[in-house]
Amino acid sequence: MKVLVATSSTQGDVDGDYSFCVPGEILWITMVCDTDRLYPEKGCGCGRGFGGLTSHRATTTAEVADLDITEADMGLAVRTSLTDQGWLAPEIAEMHDEIVAETVELVRALAEPLPEGTIVRRRLDEFHAFAPPAAP
Ligand SMILES: [Zn+2]
Repeated sequence: MKVLVATSSTQGDVDGDYSFCVPGEILWITMVCDTDRLYPEKGCGCGRGFGGLTSHRATTTAEVADLDITEADMGLAVRTSLTDQGWLAPEIAEMHDEIVAETVELVRALAEPLPEGTIVRRRLDEFHAFAPPAAP
């Protein structure tokens, strides 16, 4: 399936860009804090970021990649990461399946229609796709 992976491509082209992920790691659409939602220019920057499933860090630049993984594989990666990060608390065990499925679906819906190599940037709940820069 097509997913989003962390990329250094176009990193730094936009003011406030940041990249703390491991290049190539699979990303998820992270939650946005209230400060960023209310004051997108003055918040912590999470409203512009994607989360790394492995590093648990964030980046403002994502790239569409068609990886040889199934949605079930992606679901396992999401479940493991969100559990490790503390999002899937035991108190809400009955919601875990739904949270994992929604997280996979967000990525799938965003990446599937886009050609591989497309750069995706985010502003809160809006996502913008850019053709990859031409090779030098
Ligand atoms: Zn924030």
